[in-house]
Amino acid sequence: MKNYDILIIGAGISGSVLAERYARKGKSVLIMDKRDHIAGNCFDYKDQNGILTSKYGAHLFHTNDEGVWKYVNRFSDWYKWEHKVIARVDDKTVPIPVNITTVNTLFNINLTTEVEMQKWLADNRIEYSQPKNGEEAVLNRVGEVLYDKMFKHYTKKQWDKYPAELHASVLERIPVRDNYDDRYFSDIHQALPKGGYTQMFENILDHPNIQILLNTDYFEVMDQLSGYEKLFYTGPVDRFFEFNDKLTEKLEYRSINFVTEHLEKEYFQENSVVNYPGKDVEFTRIVEYKHFGNQQSDKTTIVKEFTVDEGEPYYPVPNEKNQEIYSKYKEEADKLTDVYFVGRLANYKYFNMDQAFRNALDLFEELECSEPKILEN
Ligand code: UDP
Repeated sequence: MKNYDILIIGAGISGSVLAERYARKGKSVLIMDKRDHIAGNCFDYKDQNGILTSKYGAHLFHTNDEGVWKYVNRFSDWYKWEHKVIARVDDKTVPIPVNITTVNTLFNINLTTEVEMQKWLADNRIEYSQPKNGEEAVLNRVGEVLYDKMFKHYTKKQWDKYPAELHASVLERIPVRDNYDDRYFSDIHQALPKGGYTQMFENILDHPNIQILLNTDYFEVMDQLSGYEKLFYTGPVDRFFEFNDKLTEKLEYRSINFVTEHLEKEYFQENSVVNYPGKDVEFTRIVEYKHFGNQQSDKTTIVKEFTVDEGEPYYPVPNEKNQEIYSKYKEEADKLTDVYFVGRLANYKYFNMDQAFRNALDLFEELECSEPKILEN
């Protein structure tokens, strides 16, 4: 195999950003991925109904980071998309995050002002000044009844753990609102790429210094690779150290089984994402992709998400035990020179998309600090 300056394993957000940065700096870059496509878990494509669909679950971009926003705008036009989620709870449909409408609908009451909602929350919440886990985090925000109806079983289905067995940060991703705001996120920039994510990644990687190698598992070809200055690895950190006898404890990951249905009707549900926080069904949510960007078709495609233990690792599982195991891998990783671990799986962190962009950009800055700072936060 030809020699390259920079070797990158994984063509998702982290790998693609680093490839682009180094290519622009004049380095030759080889980026490989064991899948048959670029874009990592952001990969999307037009399905048989002509609907732009994400292969690995809906990806909603949101950020307050002006540097990241500027960066992604170099590679795609974006349209504003303020994501909303509804949940089927008992026989009712309510907005999530919890807001005034959620409480009114579930409890048949009629709060109208922020002050009334604040009072309702104050009467119902169980205070924990420093929530130690996901259960305390939710009880501290909304109290026991909403915890049971909306968070406890959804979390068990998603993680195969109850909220008490997870870091507070997992459940704190979802805010609680004392008003009628029914947006899932409150960031300044909330948008989707006009031509889809795959097209944006094609643009990021479109540089004569970048060679893309798909269908290639790094661990099967590593013996043929040499002469590079730096290696960036974005896969699961424990896979990298599989042959290290000192590291025997495996990290936990959650995977998703996406079950797709093509339907001969215009719409299946009234919103892009409908959550099912109850015990009555095994899936966590149903995504109907045509809602994103209001795509038109006389047919529709829906995807039910079942979270499972086995399969492609999507989510690290944030709790103390895994953090402890991860720290041993990190220790080994830090000993290596010119090998860098970057991204959600290699850092074993539950990053949002914008954080993944930010970390890759920052790593490049850190390593190549002779470059003028091109993207300030
Ligand atoms: N969550 C929940 N009920 C919901 C939505 C989320 O209990 O209806 C909890 C659940 O533990 C989930 C976490 O909040 O894993 C974070 O949700 P988010 O939507 O951010 O998860 P993602 O979209 O990354 O899967």
